[in-house]
Amino acid sequence: MSQDWDAGRLDSDLDGVAFDTLAVRAGQHRTPEGEHGEPMFFTSSYVFRTAADAAARFAGEVPGNVYSRYTNPTVRAFEERIAALEGAEQAVATATGMAAILAVVMSLCSAGDHVLVSRSVFGSTISLFEKYFKRFGIEVDYVPLAELSGWDAAIKANTKLLFVESPSNPLAELVDIAALSKIAHAKGAMLVVDNCFCTPALQQPLKLGADVVVHSATKFIDGQGRCMGGVVAGRSEQMKEIVGFLRTAGPTLSPFNAWIFLKGLETLSLRMKAHCANAQQLAEWLEQQDGIEKVHYAGLKSHPQHELAQRQQKGFGAVVSFEVKGGKEGAWRFIDATRLISITANLGDSKTTITHPSTTSHGRLAPQEREAAGIRDSLIRIAVGLEDVADLQADLARGLAAL
Ligand SMILES: *Cc1c(COP(=O)(O)O)cnc(C)c1O
Repeated sequence: MSQDWDAGRLDSDLDGVAFDTLAVRAGQHRTPEGEHGEPMFFTSSYVFRTAADAAARFAGEVPGNVYSRYTNPTVRAFEERIAALEGAEQAVATATGMAAILAVVMSLCSAGDHVLVSRSVFGSTISLFEKYFKRFGIEVDYVPLAELSGWDAAIKANTKLLFVESPSNPLAELVDIAALSKIAHAKGAMLVVDNCFCTPALQQPLKLGADVVVHSATKFIDGQGRCMGGVVAGRSEQMKEIVGFLRTAGPTLSPFNAWIFLKGLETLSLRMKAHCANAQQLAEWLEQQDGIEKVHYAGLKSHPQHELAQRQQKGFGAVVSFEVKGGKEGAWRFIDATRLISITANLGDSKTTITHPSTTSHGRLAPQEREAAGIRDSLIRIAVGLEDVADLQADLARGLAAL
């Protein structure tokens, strides 16, 4: 740059840089103080230079902050960094992952619209559709995730959105996102992907053709189990509606949480590589053990969609599930025998967690619904963290010995 030194270069030039560089630097706009780290802006409102300045900012005629429900510089830095990582024109942060999903549907759907949801989505997502959106006249149907012909057949004239999680929880099924987005677009519908399990470090759905991505930042984006948050990313056209809803309705992200997530993103790639390496090693080891009947992990050659996972994702993720001998009693004995791993349903933490889906996250389903979803009583899910893998394996061996 030929700029003279006094004019100063406070922000980095990020033209053409790689993902890992964006994860560390995108979205940062330094103040004249020249701070190296991202500052936290703890303020609910902003002052104006003059009455005319206030009027112009309120009218949106000049850029600038008005009120932190609308914009906050720390939150904006997080939004810009996520947009860069997802390859989105724009991103907007939300108070939780559920608020991100709420915002998408409230903004893009109206009474009389039809939404297709993959059968195996997060439990609260199903409750949101079933208990609330249906009450406001949105029609909802559920489709098995992997089967493309099922999606095609289920789309109706009033289908507005297809909503999927890939890979699914806890059985690690996938859908071909590029193929599904073509099916959606051919019939005038949009594809929304909950990218919480992969994060943009492993999968970038917008680049595969999806229209909108949502995240629970509570999981791997934070990565250390500290804060709740969410984010929506997509094209400006859709984001305009979503931003408008969030500013009015108010489930926006706090600047403190945004700052934590900015720090989380700086190590996202490294963490995801380590999560995947640990998960792969444990999945391969579990598959060889006598007490284990089946292991569900897309990184295994035995996984029916292993090739799709290799094509669509840069890694296979942290979540491994497996069926043990001895049904529910066996599964509970296995879980109770562990001494290191945390018994909790959360995931996306540096600490490894273990859970029994059929009596916790999927406990509200009727037995036939669980059966249809493939959630057996013998199924255990681990969300593999960043501990030494030998210690994790030793802990799982305690579980095996208790079967
Ligand atoms: C946790 C989770 C959510 C909800 O996120 P919150 O931050 O808990 O509101 C949505 N989708 C998936 C896949 C999740 O794991």
